[in-house]
Amino acid sequence: MSNKEQEPVLIVGAGPVGILNALGLARAGVPVHVFERGDEVAQAPRAMVYHWSVLDGLERLGLYEDAVQRGFLKQDYTYKVHKTGEEIRYGLQSLEGLVKHPHNLHMGQNVLAELALEHLARHPHARVHWGHKFTGLTQGPDQVTATFTTDDGDATFTGSWLIGADGARSAVRESQGIEFEGFTWPERFVATNIRYPFEAAGYGQTTMLIDDRFGAIITKIDNSGDTGLWRYTYCENASLPVEEVEARMPGFFASIVEDPQNVLVEAYSPYSMHQRAAATLRSGRVLLAGDAAHATNPTGGLGLTSGLFDTYVLSEALAAVVNGEAEETVLDEYASERRRVFVDVVNPAASNNKRMVYHSSDPVRLEQDLEELRRLTTDEDYVVKRLMFPKSLETPSLIGAW
Ligand SMILES: Cc1cc2nc3c(=O)[nH]c(=O)nc-3n(C[C@H](O)[C@H](O)[C@H](O)COP(=O)(O)OP(=O)(O)OC[C@H]3O[C@@H](n4cnc5c(N)ncnc54)[C@H](O)[C@@H]3O)c2cc1C
Repeated sequence: MSNKEQEPVLIVGAGPVGILNALGLARAGVPVHVFERGDEVAQAPRAMVYHWSVLDGLERLGLYEDAVQRGFLKQDYTYKVHKTGEEIRYGLQSLEGLVKHPHNLHMGQNVLAELALEHLARHPHARVHWGHKFTGLTQGPDQVTATFTTDDGDATFTGSWLIGADGARSAVRESQGIEFEGFTWPERFVATNIRYPFEAAGYGQTTMLIDDRFGAIITKIDNSGDTGLWRYTYCENASLPVEEVEARMPGFFASIVEDPQNVLVEAYSPYSMHQRAAATLRSGRVLLAGDAAHATNPTGGLGLTSGLFDTYVLSEALAAVVNGEAEETVLDEYASERRRVFVDVVNPAASNNKRMVYHSSDPVRLEQDLEELRRLTTDEDYVVKRLMFPKSLETPSLIGAW
């Protein structure tokens, strides 16, 4: 069957995971339709750090060169203790000669999604349907039929498989009655996009500010304008009124800069955070990926990292199944392996990152944490071991391609 005659794979959600899955499938000749309830890629401040370990996958998808043009590569990390001013600096230079891409990429996830859309548009067998909100599906032995609401009424599409990449509140996951197991944190995170000359003020391009009140992650998103755009993410008690987030914001900036009136807030978004995983990532012809499959607090940037590692193996394995080159059982491997990595590796690491940056009130525990971090300035083997961690989130190709 030529790809024109094949049933398309349906993908719900045009976030980075949905679009990159579509691109992977389209590049393998599989017809694909993406459905997004919004009218464009979501612009709210979210992921912007791409660990070195995901860059090989962007390269396999043909996105790496353009991504580096739109974002920027960087190597430095700083832990800073707010109360004492102690700084612990280290960097990805330690990976030079050991890995292909010894740098992280910084770029808003909206920019990555838009770039991937441009690449997707080069494939005539790929289509994106904006303004289509998924409402339900039925499965047959060889097909899945999904329904959507649109401004012009309801719409129905039939495909061979369906990927739910519709985020943490996934309606696809719900339609399959799949539990989202885990818990929701009691705190609220506030992600802001701001302009301030942090580098002139001595900040590195990624600073993890350790404090039980003013803990924050301060990271440069891009080099635009005089100062670059920065992400400043802090944490507050979720019982504080959400409508007063903006009024409380200067108090956080005043804790680290003397002139908070010069902090220009371009965008912000309050979030609740979870440590949750879908009970299964496969239900018949429906597969879950990205935040629909698992959600984590963002400290350490492991959320989309996990979603990208889902994408690299899922798009490839599903294309192989559709093209008759692999058995369906490879999709069970996808489901169990990606869930295992999240539960066993991502969950504990992200929870520990959050504890250390935002909840350091126990001085004994804080000193233990700092003792460990100080090794980053003296013990090169330890630096390498720590920097290799994001690679442990990867699942190697399930069809033996890499
Ligand atoms: C403040 C913050 C900072 C973060 N920083 C990082 C970081 O630096 N690095 C990192 O790796 N991760 C980070 N993350 C996590 C990252 O943002 C998520 O893991 C990522 O957005 C997941 O992508 P996704 O495509 O799976 O889901 P989403 O980005 O949530 O996309 C889902 C899409 O589905 C659409 N959709 C939802 N329901 C429907 C429906 N019924 N019908 C049709 N469409 C629907 C939505 O509109 C959306 O476009 C951060 C998260 C937050 C909150």
